[in-house]
Order: sequence, then C-alpha cells, then structure tokens
Amino acid sequence: MIYGERAIENPIRWAMVGGGRGSQIGYIHRSSALRDFNFELVAGAFDIEAERGKDFGVNLHVNPERCYPDYLTMFEREAEREDGIQAVSIATPNYTHYEICKAALKAGLHVVCEKPLCFTVEQAEELESLAKEHNRVVGITYGYSGHQLIEQARHLIANGELGDIRIVNMQFSHGFHNVAVEENNPSTKWRVDPKFAGPSYVLGDVGTHPLFLAEAMLPKMKIKKLMCSRQSFVKGRAPLEDNAYTLMEYENGAVGMVWSCAVNSGSMHGQKIRVIGEKASIEWWDEHPNQLTFEVQGKPVRILERGMGYLCEEALREDRIGGGHPEGLFEAWSNLYRRFALAMKEADQGKQVDFWYPDIHAGVEGVRWVENCVRSADNGAIWVEYK
Ligand code: NAD
Repeated sequence: MIYGERAIENPIRWAMVGGGRGSQIGYIHRSSALRDFNFELVAGAFDIEAERGKDFGVNLHVNPERCYPDYLTMFEREAEREDGIQAVSIATPNYTHYEICKAALKAGLHVVCEKPLCFTVEQAEELESLAKEHNRVVGITYGYSGHQLIEQARHLIANGELGDIRIVNMQFSHGFHNVAVEENNPSTKWRVDPKFAGPSYVLGDVGTHPLFLAEAMLPKMKIKKLMCSRQSFVKGRAPLEDNAYTLMEYENGAVGMVWSCAVNSGSMHGQKIRVIGEKASIEWWDEHPNQLTFEVQGKPVRILERGMGYLCEEALREDRIGGGHPEGLFEAWSNLYRRFALAMKEADQGKQVDFWYPDIHAGVEGVRWVENCVRSADNGAIWVEYK
C-alpha cells in the first residue's frame, strides 16, 4: 500500500520540456510525478512559444528565472547551478523526442520520455547506448502498465494459471478521429503529418500501448514475424494510417493481433488485452481498469477486483485506497513515476533495480514494432521477419 510517504531521501529536482498550456498530456505528467513527493518541479521549457511557456511555468509556481525559452538553454543554465535539475520529462510532439532525449542524456540527466521514443530503431538503439554509457534512467510513459491489475495478470501467467499461452488479442481502438478533426485541433494536426508524427499514426500513437501491456504481462514472449495492413479512412491522412491490423507470430508458437484505430466511431477508448492460454484466459479493459476477468474453461467467470486481499503481493504493493473505490489512469501513471524515481535513485548509487518498469528498452521495442509494421504494410501487407 502506498501512503504517500517518501520513497527516496530527497525529491528529485525535475523539469519538463513541453506539456504546456493546452497540451494533452502535460498535466498527467505533473500530477503523477508530484503526487508522492518524489519529484519537485523546479524548471521547464514548457512550450514551443517561449513567452506562453514562461507564463505557464509561473502559474505552476516555477521560479520565472527557471522558465526557459527552449530546452538547450535550460540544460545549459541548469548545469551551471548547484541545485540544477537532475531529471527531465519530455512531453512534446514525436519529432522532437530523439534530439531532446539525446541532449538530456548528454547533459547527464535522467529522462522520462513520451512514446514513441523516436522514429527509427537506429536512433532508438543509439539512445539506449547513450543511456547505458551515462548510467541514466529513461522511463517511457506507457501509462496503464503501472496499473496494479497488470501486475496481477503478469503474476497469474507466470504462475502457470493459464497454461501455455496460445493467443494474445490486443486493441486500442477509439472513435475520436472518425472525421478530420485535425482541421481544428493542433494536437491532432501534427499526429497525421509524417514530418511531425513519424512513420505511423495509430500504430505508434495507440497500438504500442496494448503491445507494451502484453510485454509487461508476458516478458518472455518474443515476436518472430508479423503482417500489418493499414488504411487511411479520412482523406488527407495518407500515408499515415488511422486504422491498422497487425497479426503476429511469436517464437513460442503463440499468435497475437493488435487492432490500432482512431476511427472506431462511438468507441471511447477501447484499449483491451485478452491473453488466452490452454487452460484459461484473462482480459483487461482500460475503461473498467479495476476489474480483471479470469476465465477458467468449464468454471464460472471470476472478476478479480483491484485492492482486494486475494491479489498477489505485487498487485497490492502499489494500491492507494483499497478495493471498492476506483483507481485508474492517474494512479497507474503515479505508480510508474514512483518506480522511475526509485530507479533513478538506484542508478545514482550504481545499483540495479529488482522491479520492472517501462524503460528505454521498452521504448526501443515500441519503435521496432512500428518499423516492422510499416515495412509489412507498405510492401502490400506481407509477412515480414521481425528485426
Ligand atoms: P500537444 O500537441 O497537445 O502538446 C505538445 C506540447 O509541447 C505543447 O505544449 C507545445 O507547445 C509543446 N512543445 C512543442 N514543441 C516543443 C519544443 N520544441 N520545446 C518545448 N515545448 C514544445 O501534444 P500531446 O498530445 O500532449 O502529445 C505530446 C507527446 O505525448 C506525444 O509524443 C504523444 O505521442 C505523447 N502522448 C502520450 C500519451 C500517453 O498515454 N503516454 C497520451 C497522449 C500523448
């Protein structure tokens, strides 16, 4: 159980790049990082427009002198201070992640980076080497992976309760972009432009989320080959897709499917994962995150509720309120930020952590999956060896 007591000696001096006023994801970074007092927001380059960013930072109680016009100035000036920043979160559009992350690692900072980490596997592996070389933590915000019931699913699978795994069905399929909302929405506009979004839209934007949930639940499963078909139903989005189906074969003989979609009219979010074994299946859906369905063939369906004493130790460790009251996205993110802080502390002391979190390798694997999907789709939806 988490009661909000400090997990590390002193809060990590922390800054943000992006996540400014009007951004979609900035607030959840702040509320998750700051919730358990493991981070302290002391600086930022919050906005592409310097003045607006400064005004925003001041409204977050950041010292105006530490609200910088851009990230390079911030890294430089903060390095000159005795109380300079130790970590930075990157919550900017995709095309900036690689350069900002590289500059942060070179400045000796721990990083929390939004997905996708960058555009190519080559860039991602370069960042991974850089993080290793500088002994810095890079956390990736696959937010729901911090939910306690993901731990429970991982535990059930590892304990053999499902038997050998045969099928993994994943989807993140919402309906919010069923028409050209990008015409009036800057947050969507860059997402459908390859210059800013990278080689994909929904594959990277939503598909990588349930893909990482599967990686978290099934850490040993490795993709062997895949086949992807992608479409742009709303004209003007091509070559980027607003719908994609990806079929996968795993090395252990299991198969998987990811449905990535932003044009599923009427669907609120539709992020689901169902893992099917020879004996039983589990299913989790982000619109009802406090319930994990556990179905044993021939037995009544069981709904496992978050916060209940019958869950495994790992699923109870990060509970904040007990069963009954809902916990959701914000708590899952807070759990991740707590793990990021602990990992940063351990790295500073030259130690390894004994828990998992979406780290730089998860970031690399997300980029790798998108790259393979695009290679398949753009060659006529053919099966490709995973590389
Ligand atoms: P957005 O367009 O709504 O906001 C981007 C913010 O970054 C704005 O405040 C903008 O002014 C600022 N910005 C842009 N370039 C900048 C720069 N060079 N320096 C400083 N600030 C800059 O975008 P968003 O929807 O918040 O997405 C941001 C990132 O977060 C994207 O990579 C996206 O994929 C990711 N995201 C992740 C999740 C998740 O669940 N993990 C959810 C939504 C978005």
